[in-house]
Amino acid sequence: MDFNMTEDQQMFVKLAKDFGEKRLLPTVSERDHKHEYDEAIVKEMLEMGLAGTYFPEAYGGAGADILSYIMTVEELAKYDAGVSITLSADVSLCANPIYEFGTDAQKEKYLKPLCEGTMLGAFALTEPNAGTDAAGQQTVAAKEGDHYVLNGSKIFITNGGAADVYIVFAMTDKSQGTKGISAFILEKGMEGFTFGKKEDKMGINTSQTMELVFQNVKVPAENLLGQEGKGFKIAMMTLDGGRIGVAAQALGIAEAALADAVEYSKQRAQFGRPICKFQTISFKLADMATKIEAARHLVYKAAMKKQEGKPYSVDAAMAKMFASDIAMEVTTEAVQIFGGYGYSEEYPVARHMRDAKITQIYEGTNEVQRMVVSGAVLR
Ligand SMILES: Cc1cc2nc3c(=O)[nH]c(=O)nc-3n(C[C@H](O)[C@H](O)[C@H](O)COP(=O)(O)OP(=O)(O)OC[C@H]3O[C@@H](n4cnc5c(N)ncnc54)[C@H](O)[C@@H]3O)c2cc1C
Repeated sequence: MDFNMTEDQQMFVKLAKDFGEKRLLPTVSERDHKHEYDEAIVKEMLEMGLAGTYFPEAYGGAGADILSYIMTVEELAKYDAGVSITLSADVSLCANPIYEFGTDAQKEKYLKPLCEGTMLGAFALTEPNAGTDAAGQQTVAAKEGDHYVLNGSKIFITNGGAADVYIVFAMTDKSQGTKGISAFILEKGMEGFTFGKKEDKMGINTSQTMELVFQNVKVPAENLLGQEGKGFKIAMMTLDGGRIGVAAQALGIAEAALADAVEYSKQRAQFGRPICKFQTISFKLADMATKIEAARHLVYKAAMKKQEGKPYSVDAAMAKMFASDIAMEVTTEAVQIFGGYGYSEEYPVARHMRDAKITQIYEGTNEVQRMVVSGAVLR
């Protein structure tokens, strides 16, 4: 992309690139195969200040722009897609809603340590029977004096078990439907808040995905995020921002797969010449590069619109849907270019393909993104 990066953007991309080359790349394959979430790596990443990128300095952030953060996620995803979503869930899904909807006291208590990297965050909306239809929340929160009592469970929670702070959605008034959902800030260690099953996944194995269980968890009333009944709106607005992070993750995965395929196609010889000399292969590379470039425009544009305070839901949906679809196409073609070696876990392209798949599913499946976009087109 013909794009003049600001000093901040260059600095964050360089930080992420150095960290990716030195700390992620040497062990990513091993951690992926062992399905290992590495606490030390995540701690180091947070201590570098990568979680505070675009939040004001008053809250321990760096005061840079949203695009600096999005480029950071993209860069990390080139080396380790699991670690990139660990950061995206922490920033987009936990720190961001506290920044946008939290009280001063909540910002002081939670946003600051999240920005400074001394705490990790998570976002818990999905339940066994409430996935795409998030309105069907069965977790309940009953007000009792100066606190709420939470009961229920959440599944598939990124950073589950690892995070210190959780944005949890629960029904405070079942008769009100989506207007009866509220958002709460929970802390790991609260009595009755435990962790269940750890997901055994197809990809992004270096991230941790867990079930959360709430049994009579007493949450202080001051931990209500926003107003009672506004939880569904908070969740949807938070996911709009999160989708740009997932789109950046998909973009990074696709870029890594293209780079690997280009390199391999120059090295691998058949019929006496490098396979990149066959037009069927070089044209695949051309299509992959073009799709990545188009995706990058959508992703950066969505980030810039959020930065400017303009409505960006449709841009985020387009970016997430397109970047994740092309990530799946590009990684599949990369495997094809590697031939049988691509199907072997000895090379990174198999991992890229497994990692790419989730970007079409989480933070709203691509069917949901198409509903958002078609709704805007038909308005
Ligand atoms: C690795 C991983 C990490 C995750 N991290 C988090 C997290 O941190 N926090 C969190 O809250 N959740 C998280 N999720 C949950 C994720 O967001 C959901 O899995 C996703 O939203 C889809 O919900 P579902 O799995 O229940 O699928 P379902 O809703 O059951 O959908 C199944 C299929 O039906 C389609 N479908 C459903 N409804 C419609 C419709 N009306 N029209 C057309 N098609 C439809 C879907 O698109 C999909 O193809 C994570 C999931 C995974 C796998």
